[in-house]
Amino acid sequence: MCGIVGYIGHRKAQDILVEGLKRLEYRGYDSAGVCAVADGALVTAKCPGRIANLEERLAEVPAIGQATLGIAHTRWATHGSPTEANAHPHLSDDGRIALVHNGIIENYLPLKQWLQSKGRTFASQTDSEVLSNLIAEFYASSGDFVEAVRTALHEVTGTYGIAVLCRDEPDRIVAARRGSPLIVGIGQDEYIIASDASAIVAHTANVVYLHDNEMAVIDGDQMRTITIDNVPTTREVELIEYSLEEIALDGFDHFMLKEIFEQPQSIRDCLRGRLNMRESRVQLGGIESVARELVKTRRFIFTACGTAWHAGLIGEFLFEDLARIPAETEYASEFRYRNPIIEDGTAVIAISQSGETADTLAALREARDKGALALGIVNAVGSTIARETDAGVYLHAGPEIGVASTKAFTCQVAVETMLALYLGRRKFMSQEIMTRFMEALAAIPGQIETVLAQSDMIRDVVSRVADRENWLFLGRGYNYPVALEGALKLKEISYIHAEGLPAAEMKHGPIALIHKGMPVVFIAPRCGVYDKIISNIEEVRARGGYVIAVATEGNKEIRRYADAVFYVPDCPQALQPLLTVIPLQLLAYQAAVLRGCNVDKPRNLAKSVTVE
Ligand code: GLU
Repeated sequence: MCGIVGYIGHRKAQDILVEGLKRLEYRGYDSAGVCAVADGALVTAKCPGRIANLEERLAEVPAIGQATLGIAHTRWATHGSPTEANAHPHLSDDGRIALVHNGIIENYLPLKQWLQSKGRTFASQTDSEVLSNLIAEFYASSGDFVEAVRTALHEVTGTYGIAVLCRDEPDRIVAARRGSPLIVGIGQDEYIIASDASAIVAHTANVVYLHDNEMAVIDGDQMRTITIDNVPTTREVELIEYSLEEIALDGFDHFMLKEIFEQPQSIRDCLRGRLNMRESRVQLGGIESVARELVKTRRFIFTACGTAWHAGLIGEFLFEDLARIPAETEYASEFRYRNPIIEDGTAVIAISQSGETADTLAALREARDKGALALGIVNAVGSTIARETDAGVYLHAGPEIGVASTKAFTCQVAVETMLALYLGRRKFMSQEIMTRFMEALAAIPGQIETVLAQSDMIRDVVSRVADRENWLFLGRGYNYPVALEGALKLKEISYIHAEGLPAAEMKHGPIALIHKGMPVVFIAPRCGVYDKIISNIEEVRARGGYVIAVATEGNKEIRRYADAVFYVPDCPQALQPLLTVIPLQLLAYQAAVLRGCNVDKPRNLAKSVTVE
């Protein structure tokens, strides 16, 4: 998910590797490291924290500075905290193989057990180290480095971009990818491997893009590419014609937009290895240690702030609906000070993208001190909340750079859905219903793609009303928290005043606000209360409001009531927020752009709120 740089050529590798890592810094990372062959051994320097720390560490290992071949990594942890031991490159236990890896090895646990049964030892908690030991294991029997990488890649499921060194073949780098980008830059008698073109452009514009299941074998000044089935491939050398900034944004104008569009992938990563379709089971490694306690839990309390609080509200509905367990959602800032009642059998779930949100952390501590089982739904591995909980589930959404949260929100909801299914299945849910939900959840990433395809249309609609200063967002049931989130997104980045409400509440007061031309967004997909929402729409129209509806694909009737319609594919009601929030994220984004706001750095806001 984060960065890889590799170098083989005639220049000092360290300079190019470190400079490349700096170019990748914008992606976010939690630790970094470098490895080179020096004096017949694989030598590494690595550490948690910034590249600047790594530079200090490198100064203590002069041997690396002499090498003309090496690999380097910035890590965004998925398995194991950001510590020195968990930082890449990872050496095999016999010191023969060094590897940097982006992505997730789904089946790392059975592979690790198999390798342990062969006597292999492990120095980290990562999934990646399993791959370096696996390659070493095959290398020990075949003595063929390329073959060992190839065989190992056949054994792993999941995603990877890798660059690998072998102590005994010191003039060779092997790289490969599946589901994680990897590019080889071709310079004058040198090659630069990178997960992102920004680490390459300073040296050459000529690149080869590896395809999934493809390997590059670079020997001195020669490169060949093969599939992992050992079929030679020919890849055209392409020309990069982008500026560094354009590469960082991958063609998008802002990180927020990039992250909105990343959601199909981030949700796939979040679900990866967790939906066991064959056995109709949800597998969440992070909560296995408390599985029995969880099943006996009588009440769940979600606690969070801002967007994560909206995710919590959806979690409350999911737990009650799918697992039939009482649940509630509390603002962390309120919960921490109001001496909450925690009865026996209560579990608190803290939700925070960064895992450092001060109010959420304080609420978690309060609940834990009062005897609650403490759980976390966090994106940043090894963050304070992750450390202070009894168990939890990571999002695996990758770093989120845009201040306004988008992909973390949908992954939080995806994790809650998996948790609710996990509990529901253990309590009463039939295998058949479970399978149906799991299939529907697995289909969500593809369905989000169809919603994203309406981006231009959404911009056109927003351009008609972007000058209006007051908006309402209305939804019911599962889509009531989505209404709140839609309003918050608009406030955060476009500075338009917006309110989100349960649709039926409108007539108890807010309807007084409606006047000619006021935009009112109804989240109205197919659901049990659809007819009632139509009545609410009529009430708004009667007062001259400008109605934008989010509706289920194929619903033509709603066009009679609404001035504009954004469509989402059909899915079970419990999963609708994962789709209905997408047009609202795009709406907020487009409104902010049209109003000339700084989308990625909205005024007065910080990405991670570590103060009270
Ligand atoms: N899964 C690996 C780890 O946790 C790689 C993470 C990354 O892509 O940076 O170390």
